[in-house]
Amino acid sequence: MKIAILSRNKELYSPSRMVEEARARGHEIRVIDPLRCYMNITSHKPSIHFKGEPLEGYEAIIPRIGASFTFFGTAVVRQFEMMEVYCLNESVAITRSRDKLRSLQLLSRKGIGLPITGFAHSTKYTKELIDLVHGAPLVIKLLEGTQGLGVVLAETYNAGESVIEAFRGLKANILVQEFIKEADSKDIRCFVVGNKVVAAMMRVGRKGDFRSNIHRGGSVHKVKITPEERSTAVRAARIMGLNVAGVDLLRSNHGPVVMEVNSSPGLRGIETATGKNVAKMIIEFIEKNALSSNTKTKGQG
Ligand code: ADP
Ligand code: MG
Repeated sequence: MKIAILSRNKELYSPSRMVEEARARGHEIRVIDPLRCYMNITSHKPSIHFKGEPLEGYEAIIPRIGASFTFFGTAVVRQFEMMEVYCLNESVAITRSRDKLRSLQLLSRKGIGLPITGFAHSTKYTKELIDLVHGAPLVIKLLEGTQGLGVVLAETYNAGESVIEAFRGLKANILVQEFIKEADSKDIRCFVVGNKVVAAMMRVGRKGDFRSNIHRGGSVHKVKITPEERSTAVRAARIMGLNVAGVDLLRSNHGPVVMEVNSSPGLRGIETATGKNVAKMIIEFIEKNALSSNTKTKGQG
């Protein structure tokens, strides 16, 4: 097959592992920087060009769209959808998962367990908002934050109020959340491919940090997940419409709760922690599913 990975940097672990596994399976694959693509969206024959050359004949696209270039990155994915090229994760699903509030609303509608979460525009109702999530301690998050940046734990009611007002003063969109204390600075990353959790790891926050993100100094460990965690992760990925997803769960007293669903989950941590060849599983999934007729939205909406 002829495959392209949309990624800003081909030297990164995840794209280079997928290139390695795809080549080992006889595929033609290259990494394309989506920010260097330009496209003709008006023509009867929609096209994408890269460094002066039209991108033609691709049968599958693997989008790795970082949070810093969601707008243009998803436009490039959408353009491939217009050209009826199979995209492993579709543009609408990527956009959906990038917005924490939107994702949680969709998950909640389908009965997925979530931390109690509140959202408001005006700071006039900050007190009510904090009460809604059962008071302090509480977690405050920037809607488009990533890698643990923009996630704050307010230990007291007053701290919560100040942080909410400070963020809102900067016009930032935030959500507030019940603090799942019993998770004990640990979360579980379930790596979903298709309808299966193909690997799972536990991330443990650096001493003194409630955030378990690897980028914040967290460490990764093997973990055995429960059937309930497994089915929650698979359902969450389905609801978001993602074929490949990193579903992050916390172990709460009332069962697994989903924190977020990541559309470009990294491979390094999960392959290191589990010893599993996740890159190969992704390529195998593409081999089985890459038909343009399998594109659900064709770029709509
Ligand atoms: P990001 O997109 O920046 O990774 P997350 O929502 O995943 O933001 O939060 C970062 C980390 O903070 C999580 O991995 C988890 O360890 C911790 N965390 C987030 N929300 C909560 C919460 N409600 N209760 C306890 N810990 C939380
Ligand atoms: Mg996270």
